[in-house]
Amino acid sequence: MLTGSCACGQIRYEIRGELLGPITYCHCWRCRKHSGSSFGTTVGVRAGDLAFVSGEDRLAYWESSPGIKRYFASCCGSPLYKRPDESPDLVGFRLGTLDGDPDRRAEMHFHVGSKAPWVEIADELPQEPGGPPFGERD
Ligand SMILES: [Zn+2]
Ligand SMILES: [Zn+2]
Repeated sequence: MLTGSCACGQIRYEIRGELLGPITYCHCWRCRKHSGSSFGTTVGVRAGDLAFVSGEDRLAYWESSPGIKRYFASCCGSPLYKRPDESPDLVGFRLGTLDGDPDRRAEMHFHVGSKAPWVEIADELPQEPGGPPFGERD
């Protein structure tokens, strides 16, 4: 079973099921800004498989667009997952807060058209070319 935590450690969670779909490096501007990093690393998790061991009351969210809730740790700012009202059973999970090895590896780069100019992709993973140029929003 996978475990993880926010940066300050008050929120602790377990993922009690499979990770769904590919582990994706997403270079879109949303992932960059929502994570404060060069790209987002995301995978699907069934909402029912996500269990909070501590700190669930520290969870906060904002809506990046109507019906898309982005959950983060109000204690320290760690971005945790995205949950759409339309399909609330599946969350888009940010893997950076994991504390264990999921025994799977990243499978693709997504939206490389929006890639930050300082990022050099040096692996052989498939690249999906979508996304507006760096610095522009779609
Ligand atoms: Zn925290
Ligand atoms: Zn993205």
